Amino acid sequence: AVPLVVAVSTAMAAKKGLLIRDRTAFERAKNLDVVVFDKTGTLTEGRFGVSDIVSFGSLSEEEILTLAAGLESRSEHSIAKGIVGAAKDRNIDIPDPENFEAIPGKGAKADVAGKKIKVVSPGFLKENDIAVEKSFQDKLDQLADEGKTLVYLLKDDQIEAALALEDVIRESAKKAVSGLQNMGIKVMMLTGDSAAVAKTVADQLNLDDYMAEILPDEKSDQIKKIRQDNKRVAMVGDGVNDAPALAEADVGIAIGAGTDVAMEAADIVLVHSDPRDVTAVIKLSRATYRKMV
Ligand code: ADP
Ligand code: MG
Repeated sequence: AVPLVVAVSTAMAAKKGLLIRDRTAFERAKNLDVVVFDKTGTLTEGRFGVSDIVSFGSLSEEEILTLAAGLESRSEHSIAKGIVGAAKDRNIDIPDPENFEAIPGKGAKADVAGKKIKVVSPGFLKENDIAVEKSFQDKLDQLADEGKTLVYLLKDDQIEAALALEDVIRESAKKAVSGLQNMGIKVMMLTGDSAAVAKTVADQLNLDDYMAEILPDEKSDQIKKIRQDNKRVAMVGDGVNDAPALAEADVGIAIGAGTDVAMEAADIVLVHSDPRDVTAVIKLSRATYRKMV
């Protein structure tokens, strides 16, 4: 039988939008050393807008957006939605892509308007030794330093443009971080995004540490490493990518506005998508299980 105090706490938690799916994980929450947050969609809103378009060649901004949005119209990624949104805002006719393929954690490719189109991360450029012409580098560095996420458009393997996208840090993220730190918990961030963007977000939120350019299938390895260091760790995420890391953590916490896959893998679901609710869960766990001993 479930002790009464635990049953009462679980019911109270549910009323506040903290759904406890695994009671033993809820108990483990009282002893956490580290909380790791996913960036996009968890610490940030995960709603990207296109802020800048840099053409390296002869393509106009409209042509760049047409090709990029054509490709991305088939993708579920939050960056893809931002690019398609930007094309729609400019009343661009978005062509249908053929042979669409995601490149997990790095981008996507397809045939658009008879051209081989890729939209990819800075990491993909590095791996494939694709260089941006030097005269554009200062501008791109500046955009990255502003915390903008950069992706690159390739047309028939020629690098044509960079698109800078801006996400918004959740209003409540800063308070969530300081609240956890005041409880003696280390706060980290895990992201597939570039080191420059990760650093900007980490500085703004005063995080203890961050890991950038982590591929989707590496997220759970990072959690495993922290556990092997004898640290008790919670992972907080929203995406399909995050599910294995949520399962690996001592306490897996999904943001309610996220994907079903993340929620299935989680021990606790935060219905209101408020990162401060992580603090609330830990406080409630401490209060509940203190009463029992
Ligand atoms: P996260 O969820 O932390 O943002 P992802 O692993 O989903 O990380 O993506 C990592 C990076 O891969 C993105 O920052 C972006 O550069 C690139 N990427 C992934 N999918 C796409 C896509 N459909 N279009 C453009 N870039 C993408
Ligand atoms: Mg995410």
